[in-house]
Amino acid sequence: MAWSASRTPREHSDQPLPGFKLAYPMLSADGTSTGFSGVTLGRAHVYRAIDDALCVHGSRHACPSRWCDCGFYCFHDITAARDLACEPEYRGAVLLEVAVSGRYRRYERGLRYARQRVRAVRIGRCECGRRGEVLADSGTGSIGWRRLVPVCGSCAGVRPVLDPDTFGRLAGGDVTVTTDGPPTGPVAPLSATPDPSAAGAVAVLSAEVALLQARLDDVQARLDELTRRKD
Ligand SMILES: [Zn+2]
Ligand SMILES: [Zn+2]
Repeated sequence: MAWSASRTPREHSDQPLPGFKLAYPMLSADGTSTGFSGVTLGRAHVYRAIDDALCVHGSRHACPSRWCDCGFYCFHDITAARDLACEPEYRGAVLLEVAVSGRYRRYERGLRYARQRVRAVRIGRCECGRRGEVLADSGTGSIGWRRLVPVCGSCAGVRPVLDPDTFGRLAGGDVTVTTDGPPTGPVAPLSATPDPSAAGAVAVLSAEVALLQARLDDVQARLDELTRRKD
């Protein structure tokens, strides 16, 4: 993404400003708290529901600086965040609704700023395309934090999962977590399609029953024959 914030004047807001962004949901190594990691800049850094931006390049200046690209970022428009979520590398991200405060700078599609409160988390789709219902370990992470990923009930299987309410509670602050997901449009599951594996199993069982019946008939015929000979 190209950010062009350097020519704009520095601004400050005492009133929270709304914004939307993507983030990866994270669970601490000891399982006692949840947080978020950035999807572009600052991937290695995990922030909490209410947090202040740090310079991702290790400088000690206040964020956002005119001379640096660090700070929190958000879009003005929820559609911009949803558009970004279509990129393959962001498929496992969740959509955050944030309240921006403190120093900020504008860029063409949103804000770059110092202080953020996560108000709501929207869990998107499972990798299989169904609605994500819970969060499971993605198998990746950073030091001290496991990255979680939205999964549906079917794909979760017997894996340990974190339900949305618990994720929100462990985030600290007042975070609402929903699983409504983005609009799917005309993409819908096929209706009433018989499960081919179930149909196959029924056919195999029917064949086995027929074979058993034939053997029983054979045994019965031999018994009859033996009984007749005795007479
Ligand atoms: Zn910086
Ligand atoms: Zn799934």
